[in-house]
Amino acid sequence: PLVLGIETSCDETGIGIVHGRRLLSNRIASSMDEHARYGGVVPEVAARAHLEALVPTIDAAVAEAGIELEDLDAVAVTIGPGLAGALMVGVGAAKALAVGLGKPLYAVNHLVGHVGADLLTVDSGRIEYPTVALLVSGGHTSLLLVRDLVDDVELLGETIDDAAGEAFDKVARVLGLPYPGGPEIDRAAATGDPTAIRFPRGLTAPKDLERHRYDFSFSGLKTAVARWVEKREADGEPVPVDDVAASFREAVVDVLITKALAACRDTGVPRLLLGGGVVANRRLREVAAARAAEAGVELRIPPLGLCTDNGAMIAVLAAERIRAGHAPSSLLAAADSTLPVTDIQVP
Ligand code: ATP
Ligand code: MG
Ligand code: FE
Repeated sequence: PLVLGIETSCDETGIGIVHGRRLLSNRIASSMDEHARYGGVVPEVAARAHLEALVPTIDAAVAEAGIELEDLDAVAVTIGPGLAGALMVGVGAAKALAVGLGKPLYAVNHLVGHVGADLLTVDSGRIEYPTVALLVSGGHTSLLLVRDLVDDVELLGETIDDAAGEAFDKVARVLGLPYPGGPEIDRAAATGDPTAIRFPRGLTAPKDLERHRYDFSFSGLKTAVARWVEKREADGEPVPVDDVAASFREAVVDVLITKALAACRDTGVPRLLLGGGVVANRRLREVAAARAAEAGVELRIPPLGLCTDNGAMIAVLAAERIRAGHAPSSLLAAADSTLPVTDIQVP
């Protein structure tokens, strides 16, 4: 099926068009720059930016795909989870488009969409199920067991406080680096020593593992970095930004990959898929590749443009659901900012 996908859950207005698993276009307009001076995504600003970006981004995606809107078989949209106001803009637009064209509407779970992104990487082979999936972004840190992409996704664990990307952003601020912090920390860490400071690995102590085997916690790490920097400053000593960045990054990456591979081992599933904006992190990719190989786990990382929020992953998941015979969603389907990852077939 030919599907147009609309993604507005956070600060990216994403419009993607797919034909089955074939990617025809994937246009993204980001309001990231507008949030920079606030040090994080401002929901109201994001919603307004979606409103302005939607129509031109749809036009660009349609032109690039070389299709006519009338050719579409369905319209797909992220229904949640995400920022309520931002989601509502996309959902409203999708309903208007579906009604105007007389096409069915598919409401798609954003998190499952991140897993579905892998379907679009045709030349690097195809995802096999079951697979463990680690989603790491500014808003999410989730470990999933995907038995069937359109039918059976289990939440193994998630962050109990900050998301991994959020931790990068907050620590960057502590170090006086601009927003978004992920790329800045990556850059600073390149010349730093990852073993310079031993920062805490959240929820890895034996007693924590009993209750939180696959959960993550990054707020203690952020506080530890802040305390370390404060102490240095109080002692009148210079802060080695590159060493702090490298040591912090190492702690985050270590926990993420250790827990993801533990999930592979425990479930007997020798496959790991990564998704979300934090996958841009160079050290994360390096450590994931090395440790997955050691553990005999097949590692899959979609190209970055498909890891960050985009419309194509929403479109392709809807296309899979159409193929699986799922009914379209109701035109009364409402944005759900806290939609659980297990809700794949939104009625
Ligand atoms: P959502 O959580 O809804 O998927 P988001 O907009 O918060 O959306 P993304 O756009 O997928 O998330 O990713 C942005 C996050 O990724 C930011 O927190 C940013 O700091 C982080 N990030 C980007 N590049 C890197 C990097 N090289 N290393 C670590 N983190 C990074
Ligand atoms: Mg984003
Ligand atoms: Fe996302």
